[in-house]
Amino acid sequence: MTPEEAATRIDRKARLQIPPQPMPKLPPEERVRGWMESYLPLAPEVAKLEALRCIQCPAAPCMDACPVHNDIPGAFLKLEAGDILGGAAVFQETSNLPDMCGRLCPQERLCEGSCVVGKKNLPVAIGRLEAFLADYAAEHGGLPVCAGADSGKRVAVIGAGPAGLVVAEELRKLGHAVTVYDAWPQPGGVLLYGIPNFKMDKAVLDRKIAALTTLGVSFRMGVEVGRDVSIDDLFGQGYHAVFLGHGAGKGVRIGVPGEDLPGVMSATEFLVRGNLPPQMLPESMRAPLDPGRRVVVIGGGDTSMDCVRTAVRLRTDEVLCVYRRTESEMPGRAEERKNAKEEGVQFHFLANPLRFEAAEDGSVGRVICQRMELGEADAQGRRRPVGVEGSDFAIEADTVIIAAGYDGDDLITSTAGIETHGRSLVVVDQNGATGRAGVFAGGDNVNGADLVVTAMASARQAVPAIHAYLCS
Ligand code: SF4
Repeated sequence: MTPEEAATRIDRKARLQIPPQPMPKLPPEERVRGWMESYLPLAPEVAKLEALRCIQCPAAPCMDACPVHNDIPGAFLKLEAGDILGGAAVFQETSNLPDMCGRLCPQERLCEGSCVVGKKNLPVAIGRLEAFLADYAAEHGGLPVCAGADSGKRVAVIGAGPAGLVVAEELRKLGHAVTVYDAWPQPGGVLLYGIPNFKMDKAVLDRKIAALTTLGVSFRMGVEVGRDVSIDDLFGQGYHAVFLGHGAGKGVRIGVPGEDLPGVMSATEFLVRGNLPPQMLPESMRAPLDPGRRVVVIGGGDTSMDCVRTAVRLRTDEVLCVYRRTESEMPGRAEERKNAKEEGVQFHFLANPLRFEAAEDGSVGRVICQRMELGEADAQGRRRPVGVEGSDFAIEADTVIIAAGYDGDDLITSTAGIETHGRSLVVVDQNGATGRAGVFAGGDNVNGADLVVTAMASARQAVPAIHAYLCS
């Protein structure tokens, strides 16, 4: 009998009696003093016990709920039997970024939200265990990933974020030469420039970029496709196919007076300048960031939580999140709101900015808001916020951050004759092919701003069609 077979013989009842294992986390007062990851690593014995809480149900609804259908019970069976590298290898079969997804996925509405154990108790801590397995493997030499035999075909990947990195790795495994282009100075896209260190240490990304470089992926950074080089130029340089994975990183403007005042900035600019040293930024963003004492963040998603949690680490006195609905309609993770509250962030629900007013020095000084109430449900079933007449009030602010969502950027597509729709999103077929021969796309620039795991799923979906095109 293999250790795995022996492990499945552990009775379900016995598994259900194992209590949820404590998941170590820095206390808030320590978190706000620095940029360390809020969650601390798991000890192997704790991880094994937590994996034993998985009852190995044959239907495994957690796998269906995971966008890349990771074999979660299969990985945990190996982990509980002590085969940690084997468990990590199971995740690697379906995921290029398990250490990142384990940290960043909103597991409560994906795998953990479907976990059967979670019906009567806390669900199995799938995300933490996935990150544990991937971290352990990386710290013990990494799992083998081999480049395929040279196909003689070259692919240009546009965008060094999650979708681009995933496609680059998969195409190298198939033997194609891959060069990744990105306008930012360093690779990683949102993983570097959008995710703060307290959610994911940059070392996790660094080791991925190092592994891709070892695999033979080339990076051409600081090149803006559509401005510095066109898709036609790339085909002219001998590339056989192009993958568009440039994401959806253009911050949405909310269209109220005063939005262009100094001190009002996009979430991207604030996160980039707040979280990274100047040498990692483009020239235009290297000025020191001084948000002043009072910071107001407009928006209720995960990006706004990243902004408020960054702001409390920048020696501010008051950080306030303004959201136009109530907390229960907030689209971001409850876990992130809890972290933000623990760190001293204040919330102002049912309020919407009407305009931003300047202080005496000409930079933003006040946000004039209107109180809201919830009206009829919209097409998605969310109740619409409706302004209450005569309820305007002012909030003092030294910096205002707009975290109201992201659109695609049509610079690349408009200069390449690629069809887009809606918020500058690329039109593709079910295989990720655009209307232009040899040009494929996937990730947020196709589906709209979403999760790292959904960008990975979309990118992986395009790989067979790119491979077939190159081999035809
Ligand atoms: Fe869960 Fe995300 Fe990991 Fe899938 S990738 S198992 S959804 S944490």
